[in-house]
Amino acid sequence: MSALIEVRKLSRTYRLGEITVHALKGVSLDIRQGEFVAIMGPSGSGKSTFLNLLGCLDVADTGSYRLNGETVTGLQAEALAGIRNRHMGFVFQSFNLLPRSSAQENVELPLVYARVPAAERRRRAREKLALVGLAERAQHRPAQLSGGQQQRVAIARALVNEPPLILADEPTGALDTRTSQELMDLFSRLNGAGITIVLVTHEPDIAAYARRILVFRDGELVEDRPLPARPTDPETQP
Ligand code: ADP
Repeated sequence: MSALIEVRKLSRTYRLGEITVHALKGVSLDIRQGEFVAIMGPSGSGKSTFLNLLGCLDVADTGSYRLNGETVTGLQAEALAGIRNRHMGFVFQSFNLLPRSSAQENVELPLVYARVPAAERRRRAREKLALVGLAERAQHRPAQLSGGQQQRVAIARALVNEPPLILADEPTGALDTRTSQELMDLFSRLNGAGITIVLVTHEPDIAAYARRILVFRDGELVEDRPLPARPTDPETQP
């Protein structure tokens, strides 16, 4: 299958006064549609910088990036925002939900930006809340939900535009072990349904849910290896 993500010699340098930080030093790799990839590496190794570039939240200094056959390199902010809307959903460690809005309204938000009519927004948000097991909690505000439930709302929001790709930065970082496992089971299920997942984590237990591990060190990709299927993988269930 052709690559969903193609990056070649991607570099990102930050300048802080006199100091130059080479956050990413010429990373090249492909990610195919349907992969489940975990990005690991010590703090400061460039994981978030790389995820932000994939997510079109930041722009590389040099190198090229193609997403779904479209060249992303060189696009302006508005075009990048369009790509984010159409091609990807984001999940962050801190959930990033609007505190005064219900779960339903939070999930509808990307559809408001996409100018989808209200009735259709409601229908699609309810469908995604049901998919993450929160149909009964649609009218709750974030503070009335547990951390795991809030992250499920964030995942429903990431899914509501039907993107082929989910990018997640330490999505279980604020959750206890059992809740983290439930959330990773949900990611596995979504991946089983064909959604490509790229997830940053520093926890080996979490990375073990993926099928491929990328390890970054000092801004370089130092390891890229497949992982065997987990016994609980949906595709290995009878
Ligand atoms: P990781 O996610 O692996 O912890 P990062 O990608 O956040 O690593 O950071 C890689 C390097 O780039 C680090 O040295 C970090 O301090 C630096 N860096 C990241 N973002 C910025 C920024 N906005 N300005 C300056 N330096 C940054």
